[in-house]
Amino acid sequence: SEEGLRVRNLSVTYRISRGPFRRPDELRALRDVDLDIAPGRSLGVVGESGSGKSSMARAFLRLQSLSGGKIVWRGHDITQMTEEAFRHMRPDIQMVFQDPLASLNPRMQVADLIAEPLLTHRRDLGKVERRKIVIETMGRVGLRPEFAERYPHQLSGGQAQRVGIARAIVLSPKLLICDEAVSALDVSVQAQVLTLLKQLQEEMGLSLLFISHDLAVVRYVSDDIIVLYLGRLVEYAPRDILFENPRHPYTRALISSVLSSNPRIEREHRSPPIGGDIPSPINPPSGCPFHTRCPIAEAICREKMPELRHWPDGARVACHVANRGLVPPSETTLKGM
Ligand code: SF4
Ligand code: MG
Repeated sequence: SEEGLRVRNLSVTYRISRGPFRRPDELRALRDVDLDIAPGRSLGVVGESGSGKSSMARAFLRLQSLSGGKIVWRGHDITQMTEEAFRHMRPDIQMVFQDPLASLNPRMQVADLIAEPLLTHRRDLGKVERRKIVIETMGRVGLRPEFAERYPHQLSGGQAQRVGIARAIVLSPKLLICDEAVSALDVSVQAQVLTLLKQLQEEMGLSLLFISHDLAVVRYVSDDIIVLYLGRLVEYAPRDILFENPRHPYTRALISSVLSSNPRIEREHRSPPIGGDIPSPINPPSGCPFHTRCPIAEAICREKMPELRHWPDGARVACHVANRGLVPPSETTLKGM
């Protein structure tokens, strides 16, 4: 659609020099990733470290140049925009960062931290109007007015992240990118912040791109979910379909480790945790990148990257075996993982 976010063939490559006389290595952080987010919808991106999640977040803010592909926001490719055009649409796309305290200037009070984006992007506003928007925004994120004069060191982790979220929504963005936004918080506080994000998404009609290594967290906020492995999109499905009928062996292993406390799922998708380390993205395995850890790998998996097959229920899966319909949803026990 012309309205939301459309990403095609997103690819990010880093050159890594190891010593002056060696040719630089290529680290392909993301390869040919497609995704869409409609207005008011949320997309979760899950993957282990090294899967390319953070490169993706950075690419949307043009903090990361692409080696290929495009990022189209409301009909315009943001990677091709002039600085001027990008600055103009920049308030539309805002980011919530992982470490709330580290991302806040310790010498600024909460009200000034929240007002800062308005000073940059809404120069039309006077002091009184600005103050009104700041107090309104504090209310939206559940911060009482008396927090206005506090400094970051006087905040708990959860309160600091509420300030981070307030800074991100104060310009009324249309797309909110959350990169590990609750990973640094205690589990009980995580739930509160996730509930807040969901509530804001509904109230403000935000599109949400929610990036995390934690599938349980992603599940809570996402309408659709993407699973990344070594920079490749391996599965993409509506949330409930992904959880009820995971088709990629890597997705199955992730879900199994998340839901092991649920007896029914335990029985149906049971598999021990994923064995082995994630390979280096510098020299990724040939063929299917998961073949070094996959319990059902075949000879072809070492040679050929599987195509992303589209299923009638909306899922997309990149696996030679699953794409032949040979991994039935409820009968396969993954071995050796
Ligand atoms: Fe496993 Fe092969 Fe499927 Fe990759 S393509 S996930 S190695 S079965
Ligand atoms: Mg990361």
